[in-house]
Amino acid sequence: MQCLLCSDEAVNITPCDYDGCGIRCPTCGEYLVAGSAWAQFHAASLDERRRAFQRASWVSGKLRRPTILVADLIDVPNRLLR
Ligand SMILES: [Zn+2]
Repeated sequence: MQCLLCSDEAVNITPCDYDGCGIRCPTCGEYLVAGSAWAQFHAASLDERRRAFQRASWVSGKLRRPTILVADLIDVPNRLLR
């Protein structure tokens, strides 16, 4: 599969009990996208996704995988509601 942030070749690492998507990218590292944020994340541009990823990385620090949540997509217009 492709990385959702940079379109490099990436590996799906979604835990089997996880509601969302997990990615391991050689460039971006490992991250998760919460199921609740998925539709909005998917509709976002690459720039918007990267900003959300940066926000999630800042919140999670270096201890665990960043998880992109709805709150990280705060500056992404919610196109689904229009
Ligand atoms: Zn990537």
